[in-house]
Amino acid sequence: MRIFQSIMLVTVFGIYGCGTNQDQPMTENTTSGKTAIVIHGGAGNLKKLGLTPEEEALYLAVLDSALQVGHNMLTNGGSALDAVEATIRMLEDSPLFNAGKGAVFNHDGINELDASIMNGDNLKCGAITGVRHIRNPISAARKVMEKSEFLLLSGSGAEEFAAAEGIELVDSTYFFTQHRWDQLQEAIKDDKVELDHNGKKSATLFDKLKNEEKFGTVGCVALDQNGNLAAGTSTGGLTNKRYGRIGDSPIIGAGTYANNNTCAVSCTGKGEDFIRLGVAGQISSAMEYAGLSLDSAVNLVIQNKLKTLKGRGGCIGLDREGNVSMSFTTTGMFRGYINTSNQKFVGIYE
Ligand code: ASP
Repeated sequence: MRIFQSIMLVTVFGIYGCGTNQDQPMTENTTSGKTAIVIHGGAGNLKKLGLTPEEEALYLAVLDSALQVGHNMLTNGGSALDAVEATIRMLEDSPLFNAGKGAVFNHDGINELDASIMNGDNLKCGAITGVRHIRNPISAARKVMEKSEFLLLSGSGAEEFAAAEGIELVDSTYFFTQHRWDQLQEAIKDDKVELDHNGKKSATLFDKLKNEEKFGTVGCVALDQNGNLAAGTSTGGLTNKRYGRIGDSPIIGAGTYANNNTCAVSCTGKGEDFIRLGVAGQISSAMEYAGLSLDSAVNLVIQNKLKTLKGRGGCIGLDREGNVSMSFTTTGMFRGYINTSNQKFVGIYE
């Protein structure tokens, strides 16, 4: 089987201890002791990238390591929130993805980052948008959730708050990558706001990325031993976006949602479509009000509603029983999971 095709691995991990909890729980804990984690690294017309087997292996290896970090925390009794934050931090630190280091540039050549996180146990959530100096936006979003009386902070106000809470700020040059800079120049030349490039193939991985039609946001959903769900999403948004543009990733109910009674969801794709439909929240509502299974709810919203709008992108979902769902309307989505039976999957294409 070629390396870029789905890789199935079965691994067995130890289980100890119990997870942490906070505030008033909205649901009875199931304390099933089962854990699961699902991640994505963005969706898009990934077939156009023409990745070599070595390049595909590189992506899969980073996805694999990120999954492993989160899963180890869960099996050691860590909370779903901790696992989501740590896993996304790792993806933010990788220049391969459009979040943290390696984020895309806006029209003015500036990286403006968005992130959100949600706790399914009590519906608490936090988000930041349009920040330019926060190395790991997901951690700042968590601070907003836990240390402020608010839910969504933007720009310099968010950065000031994060700095006061001990979050690492970096010079904006930290986020610079040549391939994202070149990608911006191409988008400006073509007068395209997002990634509708011509898909021409180039020599190196980073040349391919600059010509990509993919979204590259990162996301994670997790289930901990206490039966708690959490979700998080982090992004640089769209290449050549207008200064101040906000996508779905920091919008609770659009790009991110978690509720122990239903599911945890993280989305990627053209944010405007996801906000219009309230994709992550709709999936949860379809489960809560119409009694749909996770898979049916995800398929309804992604393959029916989003497709009808010609929306491009996808999502990952996890319910409290540990059922995993991954769906997209593009030709691929970087993604992976470790389920409650400790089966591991990482994949790129349909
Ligand atoms: N959803 C993100 C946004 O619109 C982009 C992405 O998923 O890559 O900002």
